[in-house]
This record gives sequence, structure tokens and C-alpha cells, in this order.
Amino acid sequence: MTTRISHWIDGQATPGDFGRTSAVFNPATGEQTGEVGLASAAEVSAAVSKAAHAAREWRAASLSKRSAVLFAFRALLHDHADELAAIITAEHGKVLADAHGEIARGLENVEYACGVPELVKGGFSEQAATGVDVYSIRQPLGVVTGITPFNFPVMVPLWMCANAIATGNAFILKPSEKDPSASLFLATLWKQAGLPDGVFTVIQGDKEAVDALLTDPAISAVSFVGSTPIARYIYETGTAHGKRVQALGGAKNHALVLPDANIDVAADAIVSAAYGAAGERCMALSVTVAVGDVADRLVDAIAARLSKLVIGDGAQPDTDMGPLITAEHRDKVAGYIDAGERAGATVVVDGRTANVPTDGFFLGTTLLDNVTTDMSVYTDEIFGPVLDVVRVDTYDQGVELINANPFANGTAIFTRDGGAARQFQFDVEVGMVGINVPIPVPVAYYSFGGWKDSLFGDTHMYGPEGVNFYTRGKVVTSRWPDPATSTIDLGFPRTR
Ligand code: NAD
Repeated sequence: MTTRISHWIDGQATPGDFGRTSAVFNPATGEQTGEVGLASAAEVSAAVSKAAHAAREWRAASLSKRSAVLFAFRALLHDHADELAAIITAEHGKVLADAHGEIARGLENVEYACGVPELVKGGFSEQAATGVDVYSIRQPLGVVTGITPFNFPVMVPLWMCANAIATGNAFILKPSEKDPSASLFLATLWKQAGLPDGVFTVIQGDKEAVDALLTDPAISAVSFVGSTPIARYIYETGTAHGKRVQALGGAKNHALVLPDANIDVAADAIVSAAYGAAGERCMALSVTVAVGDVADRLVDAIAARLSKLVIGDGAQPDTDMGPLITAEHRDKVAGYIDAGERAGATVVVDGRTANVPTDGFFLGTTLLDNVTTDMSVYTDEIFGPVLDVVRVDTYDQGVELINANPFANGTAIFTRDGGAARQFQFDVEVGMVGINVPIPVPVAYYSFGGWKDSLFGDTHMYGPEGVNFYTRGKVVTSRWPDPATSTIDLGFPRTR
């Protein structure tokens, strides 16, 4: 039996006209479990009008009221984490521990937004001229939207909506049509937390809905996370329609392993960062750059660990790695392994022949050695459980290779030499850097974003840059006393 998955408009689940629909699967079984309605442009327009109405009231809610809603939402998310994790795993396939991890990283952003009274504090300059004070305030934009990818159906929406709502905007989420149910669960929690109807909206849909959001004059800002070609399109279309846009794209994250690295520490970290969530993470490590004689030892250590990973249904407690999101994506990833082998890469561990469940969208782990930068397994974002090893002779060659890559989301270095690590953080042209940390996703009080083709726009997501993105500054210059309106005699001339 399949569930019909609806929108969430004006504080309630709204089926919409279900004119066009998309199938939703459990990737661990391959079965269709749901059908999601894809909003038409007219449905989007009607929902945006409701959100615009709600935004006018919500911006007037006091900071303490907004903060109280955020605190309540935080508690509900915490209390319902098990249910939410089960929803994530059922539609995405990642293991339950990973689903809990994504909720925890999303929760951090809600906790940060609980401090909204502190976050939107302005500056004040007394007596800029005689009788003149100047001060700054930050005000919400109105209606803002977030268009999100399949791989983090809870964390990425929370990167956006927590700060957007706390700062007084109405937020419209357009989640991935591949795993849309978590968005509705978030909507019910917002409602229980006391958020007024219309301040959090979910529009299910595909390109038609996205295009309607990008061109609607009532939308002021667009946050996007997804693949690079779509990120570029969102940025160009949104800005052409006068909107603020932050569009985070794809990635090809490199780990640089220096000859002095602790091999066990590096191999453990690389395996978890390359194969966790079946490699479907924007911060997944997909290339290991092995410097000098570390390569053979490292490849052996990674291969030994891969043979122990349990691949299966993410809902089972002892599973280490789940399936990929769809059968088509699994076949595409397998096609990259074929191409890498044809191009001369050494297939050390072959996911195509692994003993994995046959019903769902499974693929085993793959380790490719002797990869060169002209191979498609190196140039393209594969977004699957495939790790390339590129061998170089020196630190400089490694850094040059990383800096030449058009993607620049995250990177990591493994070394026991603090000076080398410090030099790397100075040299590398990548937005987020890990030092002996494989997935350096910043905590919520910093901001998240890559460089180059991994981010279009000039504002990183969440943290202080997120608060700035969802607000605009206003500076007030005021003169008191105004001789015409001074009504009280203070007993001395008001010249100070
Ligand atoms: P995607 O680009 O296919 O889809 C992202 C969103 O865009 C979805 O909501 C989808 O419905 C919409 N969309 C898809 N095609 C569209 C089109 N032609 N016009 C308008 N909208 C469209 O990405 P995905 O497959 O869902 O997610 C995986 C990708 O996201 C990977 O490339 C990954 O690196 C990237 N990602 C990046 C980050 C980051 O922080 N930089 C984080 C997570 C995921």
C-alpha cells in the first residue's frame, strides 16, 4: 500500500490537486511506499500568498515570543527524534545511527536560533553629532524559500528554517521529491511548538514548483542545497528575478595523507567519511591523495576495513552502510566504476561484485587505486560508495591537485606535524578544512559553505552568515530634542 504525501499549507496537510505525482521508495526493499503530489505553478502561487500574509504578522511577534517557539520546537525535535529517524531511514536508506546524527546536527541550528534576541542585536552610537544618535537594526525579509536535496531531508531544512523563522520570516520548504515525508513531520512539530499557521510551509514538487518559487515576486530570498548544475541555475534564475540567493552545490572532497600520518587513525576516519551514508554526503571524502610511501600502507588498511562493513537495511541495528537512493543512481555509480577500470584505475575492492541484498538499491564499497585526474571517476561527483586514491610524491603536488579541482566544499589533512597542518590550512583553496577531522562540518555558530563550484552567492549557510542572509540592515539617524516637540521643561537648555 502506498501513502499519498501532501503539502503543508497554512498550518495543515493539504493534498493539493495531485495532478502530477512522483513515486517514493524504500531503497532497502526497492518497494514503492508513497506517492508525492508535485505542485503546479498555480498551487505554489496560492501557498506563497498565504505565507506572505503570515509573514506580516510574524515579523511583529516579540523576540521573546519567537525565542519561546524555537525553544519548544527544539524540545519536540529532541523528544521525537526516534520517529523522525525512522522516517529518514525508510525513504533515504541511511542507517538509523546516521539519521540520528543528521537530526543532532540539525538541532544545533535550532539551538543557535533560540538565541535570536542576541543574534539580531544592533549597534548604537550615542551623540554622533550634537543631539544626534545613530543606530542599526536588522529586519526580516518577508517570505523566503529553501530548496533542499535528498541526502539530508532533516538537517539541511533545519540549516535554513531555524534562522529564517527566528529572524521573523515566513519559510517555504521545497524538499526533495525522493524523500518528502520528513518535511511534513517537521511541519507538525512547528505547529505543536506554537508557530502561527503559514509561517512554515511545505510545497512538494519538482522543477515546475522550483521555477514558480524562483519567479514569484513575493519571495525575497532563496536558499538552495543540491548538485552544482542546479545550484548554478537557481542562482542565475533567482538573482535575475531580484532575489537574494545562496546556492550550495556539489563536491569532490579530498583527504591529503602525509607520510607521517597515523595509518590506523587515518584509515578509520577515511572509511567512515567515504562510505558513511553510502557516500551520499556532500562532505563525503571521495578522493584520498596519498603522499610518498604512505600509499601502499593506507590502501591496505582501508581495504582491510571495507571487508568488515555490514551492508544492508539501515533500519537493522548492526548495519554499517545502507542502499543508494534509487536504482537509477545505483546503476550510474556502477557505471563510473566500469569507466574507471577501463581508464586504467586499479580496482582494489569492487562494489559491483559484492555480496549485498538483491531486493533494494544496494551496491558494495569500491576502492580505486592509481586514479589519475583525467579519469571521470576523478573529475565527476559520483555521490556513491566509491573512493579514489591518487598517488603523489610531495605535499606541494597534493595541494596543487586539490586547488586545481573546480569543487571546493571540504577537505582534510592527516598528519602528526602541526606545522604541516597549519601550512595546509593557509594554502588550500577550499571552504571547510579538517585537520585530522575527516568531515569538517562547522558547528552551528560558524557558517557552512564551500568555494568555487560548491557555492554560488556570497553568503555561507547558517550561523552568523545565515542570520545576515535572512535579515536586512536598517540604520536610523535620529535627532532629539526636536525644539518643535519638546514639551517638558528639564530646567536647563537641551543643547547636549
Ligand atoms: P539535485 O540538485 O538533483 O536536487 C536538489 C533540489 O533541486 C531538489 O529539491 C530537486 O527537486 C530540485 N531540482 C532538481 N532538478 C531541478 C531542476 N532542473 N530545476 C529546478 N529544481 C530542480 O540534488 P540531489 O540529488 O537531491 O542531492 C545531491 C546533491 O546535493 C549532490 O550533488 C550533493 O553534493 C549536493 N549537496 C550539497 C551540499 C552542500 O552543502 N554543498 C549538501 C548536501 C547535498
